[in-house]
Amino acid sequence: MAIRSFYVSWDHAVRNGDGLLENLARWTNLNAIELTNYDSDWGPTYKEVGSLVFPSEAPFKGLGLRLTTKERFARLQRFMESARSKGFHVVCNFAPLYANSRRFVPMACVDVTGAIVPGHNNLPAYGCPNNPDVVKYGQTMIRETMATWTSADLIAVNHVEFPFWANSSLHENFACFCDSCKARAVARGLDLTAVRRDVKTLYDSITAGPTEGSVPRPLSPSDVLNYLVKHPNIGLWLDFRMQSMSEYISAVVKAGREAAKDHKRKVRVGLEFLPPTVSDVVGTDFASLYGMFDWISPKLVPEYLTASVIPRVVEYATKSRAPDHPLLMSAIRQLFALGAAPPSYRKMSDQTEGLTYSNTFDPSAIDNQMRYLTPLVGKVDIHPYTWIHHRDPAALKKKLEKFRSYGLDGYFIWGWEHNLSEDALRKARKAF
Ligand SMILES: [Zn+2]
Repeated sequence: MAIRSFYVSWDHAVRNGDGLLENLARWTNLNAIELTNYDSDWGPTYKEVGSLVFPSEAPFKGLGLRLTTKERFARLQRFMESARSKGFHVVCNFAPLYANSRRFVPMACVDVTGAIVPGHNNLPAYGCPNNPDVVKYGQTMIRETMATWTSADLIAVNHVEFPFWANSSLHENFACFCDSCKARAVARGLDLTAVRRDVKTLYDSITAGPTEGSVPRPLSPSDVLNYLVKHPNIGLWLDFRMQSMSEYISAVVKAGREAAKDHKRKVRVGLEFLPPTVSDVVGTDFASLYGMFDWISPKLVPEYLTASVIPRVVEYATKSRAPDHPLLMSAIRQLFALGAAPPSYRKMSDQTEGLTYSNTFDPSAIDNQMRYLTPLVGKVDIHPYTWIHHRDPAALKKKLEKFRSYGLDGYFIWGWEHNLSEDALRKARKAF
């Protein structure tokens, strides 16, 4: 069955209630709404990620998590019930590696410089999948979701990947070397000290910038291949990360399946992950994991990667404006098959949608990613995740048509409040 979902922030859902659901039913053929396990407004402009959407802190035993009040939880429950009664599936966007408590900091990833990795969107910590307490937290969270989100019939496991946003530094992308990882590496016979030395050398060479007198030239895939030949520890490290994340994902999903049985609930569990060309590098082995999910949602193709994340990485590496380094900007996106770079970068004046530049999307990137997904067609339901940007339903329509050309009728869409007004939905009705 094709799921056609739109993301809605809790604040918006509660403010607009049944009116929103009626507009969605009237103007679109969407059959699902996606709500997060954080009670928050749209990112990334919101200043503080909200409380976790659970009725009781008790199962999380002393983690000091911020939770919604009981009254608020009941209100959110009513909205979900209303959505179900109007024929919508309710999807929980489930991000188990983030936590909103300072007490979580000792369980966070430690990067190659020894710094604690902060969570996305101002959260205090980014949990390490090798830490047994992080595993417990993820398992408790999925059990509680099964038990308390009684109207949600889909759980989309999201952000089960190592840090890549470069939120406040570049070194946070070079994780993890925490004590739990050290113990895990010993058990697997991996010399994490030697690995860390090589990763640090790589990090230092990236941040050192070009050497004096060197001529700028495009970075090519052969540079990466040859680097790996000479520094096999980098490959071993990436593989170690991916195995660690796979074990973590399996443990969390298994706990969720058991909880569904215990509560006699039919809940489908899916996996949301970065574009296939990026996914392995951040540790999400979708090609091996798909069998444990009812569906998968590859992100095709988040514009924030080319419009914000890559420019931020280039800025940290070069300590100067990203558009001044077109060869490097272009090379990184080519390495990940994210399509051609624009001839020049247009800065966004409005940061509502989290993009630094407005013109970095190339539709060929979707075809590039589909090469990795077509072998899975027919083996697992594939509902690509995509974004509506620039209040442009025509551009969204093209993306959805592209998915259909590959036989994929379902999709998940991330949009913003301005995409959900009745007027915006009416104008976009031919896009969905
Ligand atoms: Zn770790």
